[in-house]
Amino acid sequence: MKVVSLPQPGGCACGAVRYRLNAAPLLAFVCHCHDCQSRTGSAFSLTLVIQTADFHHDGLVEPMRRTTHSGREVEHGNCAHCRVPVFAHALIAPGFMSLRAGTLDDASWVAPIVQTFVESAIPWAVIPGVRAVTWEEFDYVALGREWAASAPRFA
Ligand SMILES: [Zn+2]
Ligand SMILES: [Zn+2]
Repeated sequence: MKVVSLPQPGGCACGAVRYRLNAAPLLAFVCHCHDCQSRTGSAFSLTLVIQTADFHHDGLVEPMRRTTHSGREVEHGNCAHCRVPVFAHALIAPGFMSLRAGTLDDASWVAPIVQTFVESAIPWAVIPGVRAVTWEEFDYVALGREWAASAPRFA
């Protein structure tokens, strides 16, 4: 089984924001919603759900608040210099964060177990072999257990 070393380093595109993920993430998933498409400028977002306590960053982050179309108020942490979105958290769940997986120095171990908002996916971008769940059925706890069972080992 693949072993992923901790901490996992990463950062924004310009290098002003650097971070360390100090513990195993709770879940990896893909979102095809239009917010994610426009924010990333790409087909979908690849997100790790992590505990806020497991994350440490240096460098100036500019908070940007937005309401997602699922109605949650989310604060995004964008690099104040290059504006790359690095992480986000929902205001109702301050103990948890979303980390943009592509900002890891090495994201090769990040394999999503589910994809959501498939109804707004760019058709070719629907990932074969990754289960689609609607946002209504998206259960962080149950999916987290499932992810832990198939995730790499973190050490
Ligand atoms: Zn930057
Ligand atoms: Zn999304």
